[in-house]
Amino acid sequence: MSQISSSSTSQSPSARKLCRCGGYIKTWTSWTDLNPGRRFEACEMSRRSRGNGHHWEWLDATTCARGKELIPGLLRRMRAMEEELKLIEEQKKEVEDKLKMVEREKKELEYKVGELGKQKRVLEENRMGQRPRENRIWGVSFLSMGLGFLVIMMMLCILSNWLTFPGGNSKKRMIN
Ligand SMILES: [Zn+2]
Repeated sequence: MSQISSSSTSQSPSARKLCRCGGYIKTWTSWTDLNPGRRFEACEMSRRSRGNGHHWEWLDATTCARGKELIPGLLRRMRAMEEELKLIEEQKKEVEDKLKMVEREKKELEYKVGELGKQKRVLEENRMGQRPRENRIWGVSFLSMGLGFLVIMMMLCILSNWLTFPGGNSKKRMIN
C-alpha cells in the first residue's frame, strides 16, 4: 500500500522552483508504510519515482519508529472508513432513485384515479339523464295501457247493454 498526497506550497508562482525539465518542483507528503507523513520535494512530472533526471529530495528526516508503527494503522482505518462512507453514499443514492421511482408511480396512479373519477362523473351524469326518459317511457306506456283498458271496458258495457236490451226503442214503446 503506497499513497503519496500533495501538500500545497504557500510559495507564490514566481518564487516556485523549477526542475531541469521545466516542470514545477512541489512539496509532497509521503503516506507509504515505510515513510508515513514524511515530506519531500519533487518535480511535478515525476513525483513517484526517483533517479530519472527529475528533481527529487526528502525534506524531513526518517519518520520515527513510533510514527512508522502508528501512522500506517491509522491510514488503513481511515481508508476503511472512506470505503464505508462510499458504500453508504451508494446505498443512499439507490434509496433516492427508488424514492424517485415511487414518486413517479404515485403521480401516474393519481392521474389514473383522476381520469377514472372523470369517467365515473360522466357515467353518473348519463344515468341521471336517462332516468327521467325511462320514467317518461314507462308513464306513456301505462297511460296507453289504461286508455286501452278503458276503451275495452266501454265496448264491453255497450255490448252487454245491447245484448240485454236489443232495440231499446221497442222496449220503451212496450213500457208506454
Ligand atoms: Zn522534472
